[in-house]
Amino acid sequence: MLFIKYGFYMLEIKISSWQYDAMCRQHSSNLFFPPATFEKKEEREKREAKAKAVCSSCPVKLECLEEAKEIAEPFGIWGGLNEVERKRDLVFSE
Ligand code: SF4
Repeated sequence: MLFIKYGFYMLEIKISSWQYDAMCRQHSSNLFFPPATFEKKEEREKREAKAKAVCSSCPVKLECLEEAKEIAEPFGIWGGLNEVERKRDLVFSE
């Protein structure tokens, strides 16, 4: 658990211990999550390929993927899979 002072408030942020070993900590989150504006298909594929390359050598890939499935994370690359691939994985594992 991490506590951050934000103005008059104290925010409590849950951080799983595996996240300390995450390879993506060394990269911008822009690589793992889509921009707020429109992203062309080719741009998305390029960005996701780079993110998945980082995930491929991540020591906590399985923990990351499990957590994304558990919380039904709707965005981004987690555990080397994008949101569509994670949904597909869940459907076929049932
Ligand atoms: S698997 Fe990818 S998204 Fe998950 S912690 Fe590792 S580098 Fe980050």
